[in-house]
Amino acid sequence: MQEQSYFQLISPMIFLVFSCGFAVLWHFAREVRALKVFAFSYLLGAIGLLGDFIRPLLSPDVAIFVINPVYAATAATFSAAMFVFYRGRVPVRALVGVSVCMLALLTWFRFGHDMIAARTLLMNAGGFVLFAYPAIALRREMRRKVDRVLQALVFLNGLQLLVRTLVVIWFEGGTLTQANYPQSAAALTFQLSVSFAALAIAVNLFVMFGMEIVAGLTETSETDPMTGVLNRRGLESRVTGFAAGQDRMVIMADIDRFKSINDRYGHEAGDRVITNFARILDCSAREDDLVVRWGGEEFMVVFAAADPALARLYAESARCALEALNQDCVDGATVTASFGIACWPAGAPFPEAVHMADKALYRAKRNGRNRVTVHEQNTRIMKGKIAAA
Ligand code: GH3
Ligand code: MG
Ligand code: MG
Repeated sequence: MQEQSYFQLISPMIFLVFSCGFAVLWHFAREVRALKVFAFSYLLGAIGLLGDFIRPLLSPDVAIFVINPVYAATAATFSAAMFVFYRGRVPVRALVGVSVCMLALLTWFRFGHDMIAARTLLMNAGGFVLFAYPAIALRREMRRKVDRVLQALVFLNGLQLLVRTLVVIWFEGGTLTQANYPQSAAALTFQLSVSFAALAIAVNLFVMFGMEIVAGLTETSETDPMTGVLNRRGLESRVTGFAAGQDRMVIMADIDRFKSINDRYGHEAGDRVITNFARILDCSAREDDLVVRWGGEEFMVVFAAADPALARLYAESARCALEALNQDCVDGATVTASFGIACWPAGAPFPEAVHMADKALYRAKRNGRNRVTVHEQNTRIMKGKIAAA
């Protein structure tokens, strides 16, 4: 093969390296399904470009009807990967429809009118449609900066396929033949431009998936696996990020005589009771409230409002819901919990508020359990808004 052909090997190698990269990432983050579709798309791209490399060795029809469908599949699977990532489902009919139209027209421009310039333009125009489609259709889902960059890169890649081919065909369309195609500006600029585009898009995708994986790990490390609410680490990272200037309430909740539940019904039943209680607390909390498993059968809720009446209402409703809950795991026995509430004024240290809520909880326990108690100091400050229990 000609000397310049070896330069053409760089393009499939770039695709192959990124295909392997996506496959490795997918191996470690199986839940990100788009990774395997991107890996497959880049693999198809590598195969298409390798096909171009050995094109002179192939018969014309094998070259046309193997390499072109592989390119169409590369663009269609790339588009599918974008939909998988941003929407979770793929518009299969639309993507297959575009690909089938491309291949039908390709057949026409081979056996109806044998026009290589038309075939080249057709394949690149089809590529434009397949790349521009997700970039436009997913615009609502692509909101972050990294998504916007990806959207621009994918659209520009589609656009260059169309515009570059139009320009090249304008200049060399008349002289283009099956024999001189591999050395033509159409073929060489195609390989160069898609390699640059593939590189830029893949780097952007790696940054995006990196962010995705880190976010997933952070969420896992900040969530209590048994109940799904925040753990202490999750609480700390959020509390330190709170903007100053907002009063909040801290509610401590603890299941009553939980040790005897464990003793009587077993540890597994105890776990179910804890999970049910966490669900009650979480369901009635608002989006800005933090529900935290403080440890064992003890929970904390950081209430995003400084409205003591609302905090008390929340605690009372959770208390009633637990008491009324018919729990199979404990043969329907009544389970109760006690609550302590304290105000966390803006600028005050968080541990101080926790200490006060803890003291209020202790009083609730001492006064007979299954009740909500507000810290005395808070009740004085709140000028009777809440009646101390
Ligand atoms: P009180 O009304 O005073 O709160 O009494 P209590 O029995 O609930 O309090 P105590 O703190 O003495 O007992 C808590 C028990 O919770 C002790 C521990 O064995 C159990 N426990 C802690 N974590 C878990 C857990 O994850 N699952 C289960 N099943 N039990 C747990
Ligand atoms: Mg307890
Ligand atoms: Mg306890």
